[in-house]
Amino acid sequence: MDCLFCKIAEKEIPSDLIHEDEFVVAFKDINPQAPVHFLIVPKIHIKSLDQISKEDNALISHIFNLIPKLANELGIENGYRVVNNCGPDGGQTVDHIHFHVLGKREMLWPPG
Ligand code: AMP
Ligand code: ZN
Repeated sequence: MDCLFCKIAEKEIPSDLIHEDEFVVAFKDINPQAPVHFLIVPKIHIKSLDQISKEDNALISHIFNLIPKLANELGIENGYRVVNNCGPDGGQTVDHIHFHVLGKREMLWPPG
């Protein structure tokens, strides 16, 4: 499948990897929107949040347990933002589900 994040997970395309385990890779965003900005990406191809099912519960739980661990490892001690862009109106540009983690600056609300 011609999918950028599958290729990054398979190491066919290099990334600035910060974490890897059986289920996910995490790497720095190539176009960071904050001093710390990384992505958590499942190794299996799921198009978007809209496509997840109950079979993915363990994976999603794993990702949300990992987020504070990685955030703390990267020194985001003053808080951070977790973002999932879903579908065209959600601003999704890579059609392989991923969670952004942004920190080391104050975030605006509401988002644009
Ligand atoms: P989204 O717009 O939510 O689908 O997010 C896709 C993100 O992937 C954007 O923030 C991009 O900057 C990021 N991105 C695209 N290509 C790469 C890459 N080769 N390595 C790391 N991040 C990437
Ligand atoms: Zn994929």
